[in-house]
Amino acid sequence: MSHCLADALAIVNQRIEAAMLQFQRSPNSVQLLAVTKGQSAATILQAWQLGQRQFGESYVQEALPKLEVLNAYPIVWHFIGPLQTNKLRWIAEHFAWVHSLDSLKHAQRLSAQRPAELPALNVCIQVNVSREPQKAGITEAEALELIPQIKKLPRLQLRGLMTLPAYTDDFEQQRQSFRQLAEFCKYLGTLGHALDTLSMGMTDDLEAAIAEGSTLVRVGTALFGQRN
Ligand SMILES: *Cc1c(COP(=O)(O)O)cnc(C)c1O
Repeated sequence: MSHCLADALAIVNQRIEAAMLQFQRSPNSVQLLAVTKGQSAATILQAWQLGQRQFGESYVQEALPKLEVLNAYPIVWHFIGPLQTNKLRWIAEHFAWVHSLDSLKHAQRLSAQRPAELPALNVCIQVNVSREPQKAGITEAEALELIPQIKKLPRLQLRGLMTLPAYTDDFEQQRQSFRQLAEFCKYLGTLGHALDTLSMGMTDDLEAAIAEGSTLVRVGTALFGQRN
């Protein structure tokens, strides 16, 4: 294999550690989610054997065979892709987390379809901080209305917020988008909606996200190379 996963994983973990030190984040406050869309079950297994435990998938059709093959491993699966009504049952049955929640209808269905023998499904609301029309996610004002309704659903545990800001290679601009989400999260805390998860930062902007309080960076390319 030309691409060495062990080296890539070590480098990403070093980037996270360095950013945590630079921006005075407390130990263990940032976790790595390995994003494996476009990657095989064998690659996921290899990352597991290197110590990675949390994995993110974006498409049900693609994830289904991989989760089946890896059924015996206690992997923490996160669903980070667009939600489609007819795929929610399978997500509710197989994932520990959903990062891309953006409607009450989907929240109600996920709660109703979460199997009784599993713990509540951890969810993050996806906020479109950059207001890009082609991207999923809702505005802060919409999230503010949605949150009390999600908190009433018995089989969901509202954990936090997720964002995927407009691309820029400018560090200060990256920080600004992430700060917008972090400040909204703080504001929610003052309203009695304390949340412990900020899912933000990817291959190109994880340092900026960690600077602004990310607790979970979602990294694909830096671990597995360019997707086909
Ligand atoms: C693909 C994807 C990622 C990973 O992006 P990279 O730039 O490859 O690290 C993170 N979050 C979401 C929602 C994604 O779809």
